[in-house]
Amino acid sequence: MLNLKDPTLLRQQCHIDGKWFDADDATTVAVTNPATGATIGTIPHMGAAETKRAIEAANAAWPAWRKKSAKERATILRKWNDLMLENADDLALIMTAEQGKPLAEAKGEIVYAASFIEWFAEEGKRVSGDTMQSPWPDRRIVVTKEPIGVCAAITPWNFPAAMITRKVGPALAAGCPIIVKPAELTPFSALALAVLAERAGMPAGVFNVVTGSSRAIGGEMTSNPIVRKLSFTGSTQVGRLLMEQCAPTIKKLSLELGGNAPFIVFDDADLDAAVEGAIASKYRNAGQTCVCANRLYVQDGVYDAFAAKLVAAVAKLKVGDGQEPGVTQGPLIEEKAVLKVEEHVADALAKGGRLLAGGKRHALGHSFFQPTIVADVTSDMLVAREETFGPLAPLFRFNTDDDVLAMANDTEFGLAAYFYSRDIGRIWRVAEGLESGMVGVNTGLISNEIAPFGGVKQSGLGREGSKYGIEDYLVIKYICMGGI
Ligand code: ADP
Repeated sequence: MLNLKDPTLLRQQCHIDGKWFDADDATTVAVTNPATGATIGTIPHMGAAETKRAIEAANAAWPAWRKKSAKERATILRKWNDLMLENADDLALIMTAEQGKPLAEAKGEIVYAASFIEWFAEEGKRVSGDTMQSPWPDRRIVVTKEPIGVCAAITPWNFPAAMITRKVGPALAAGCPIIVKPAELTPFSALALAVLAERAGMPAGVFNVVTGSSRAIGGEMTSNPIVRKLSFTGSTQVGRLLMEQCAPTIKKLSLELGGNAPFIVFDDADLDAAVEGAIASKYRNAGQTCVCANRLYVQDGVYDAFAAKLVAAVAKLKVGDGQEPGVTQGPLIEEKAVLKVEEHVADALAKGGRLLAGGKRHALGHSFFQPTIVADVTSDMLVAREETFGPLAPLFRFNTDDDVLAMANDTEFGLAAYFYSRDIGRIWRVAEGLESGMVGVNTGLISNEIAPFGGVKQSGLGREGSKYGIEDYLVIKYICMGGI
C-alpha cells in the first residue's frame, strides 16, 4: 500500500533487547492515515510487563555501553545518522502516512531528526570534567561526568521522528541506554528508526521501542527504580502527571510541554518578512507544533496592512493529502483536534471576532481544516489562553511596547516567542522582556540541533539539542584524591 523502496522499514512489532516482539497477549491496535482514514497497519498493544522487560534489558546492556569510548559510540550513531539520510524518502512516506504532514515537511523532519544523532555523536566526545583548587595541601579535587543510567522517553505525534532522536541522541552519546514509547498515533516512524539502529550495529538492549497503553507503559517507566531519568514531550497536563509519578523514585526529568507563543508585529517591521514568518510559524504542520505562533499581536498602525497581506498569503496555501505534490497543509491529526479549532473559532466569533479567511472544515472531509484568520481578537477569548494546535491565526491589536509585553507574558506558558522590528533598542528590550525560553527576532523558524530548545514557566524543564542537551543525561561525580 505504501510505495516504499524498502518495505522492511514498516515494522509492526516492538523492539526490545535487540529482538522483535508482539504483545504478550498478542493484542494489537490499528494505525490509520489521517488523510484517508485507511489503516496503515497494526502495532502491539503492550503494557507494564513488556516495558519492565525492556527496562531490565536496557539495564543489562548498560555496563558494556557505558564502557565504550565516546568515539566508539559515535561510530555507531554516525552510521545510524547516515542510514536515516539514505532512507529519507521511505521514512518520509511512512511519516506522512501516519501523521499527515506534507511529504516535503516530512522529509525535512527526517533530516532534522538525523541531525540530532550526528550532533550528539560528536558532543559525546566533548563531555569533560574539572579539576578545582583544593583547600587542603594533601588532597585534590577532581570532577567527572558519568551517564545517568537507564533512561525512558515518551514522545508525541507532531514530530514522530525528531522528538525521538532529540532524546535518544544525547542519551546514547552520553552512555545511557533508553526505552522509547512513541505516540500511539505515529509509532511506525519510531519502529523504522529501530530497524535502522539495528542495521547500524546498535547493541541489543541499548535502544528499545515499546508501543501500546500509555498509562501502563508510562506507569512502569515512572515507577521502576531502574529508570533514572524520564524525558517527555507532550501536553503540560500529562507532564504534570508524569512528574508526580516520578516523585517517589526521584527521577531526573526533562519536560518539553505546551506553549502559547506570541508573534508580535511592531509598526517598524518589514511587513512582507513578518507575513512570511507568520505563515511558516503558524501553518507549518497545520499549526500542530508547540512553538507555533498561537497569538498574533499587531500594532495599530500596521494592523490592517498586515491583515490584508496575511489573507493574501494564506490564500496561496494548498490543503490536501500530504503525499500529493504541491500540498502545503495536510489534515489535522484526528477529529478531536478539529473540534478544538472549531471551538476556538466559534468562541472568537461569538465574542466579536471578525473572520478574514477559512473558519470551517475543508471540503476534503476527514480532519482537514481550512487555513483560518480571525481579526479583532481580544484577551477574553479562548485563543488568548489556550494553545489551538491548528491552522487558526488570531489577530490581536495593540498600541504600546509595554502593553504588548504584558499581554504576551500573561500566560502560564513560556516556550517560544517571536517578534518583528527593525529598531535595535526595541529588539533588545522586547527580547529581554519576553518570558520564554526561545525568542525569534525577525524570523518564524528557530529550531535546529545546535541551539538549545526548551521553555520556562509551565512549558517545561531542561534543554534539548545544543551543547546543553547532553547535560540532562549526565551526573556529576566529585572525587576527593587524598594521601598525596
Ligand atoms: P499531545 O497533546 O501532544 O497528544 P499528550 O501529552 O496527550 O500530548 O501525549 C504525548 C505523549 O504522552 C503520547 O506518547 C501519549 O501516549 C503519552 N501519554 C498520554 N497520557 C499519558 C499517561 N497518563 N502516562 C504516560 N504517557 C501518557
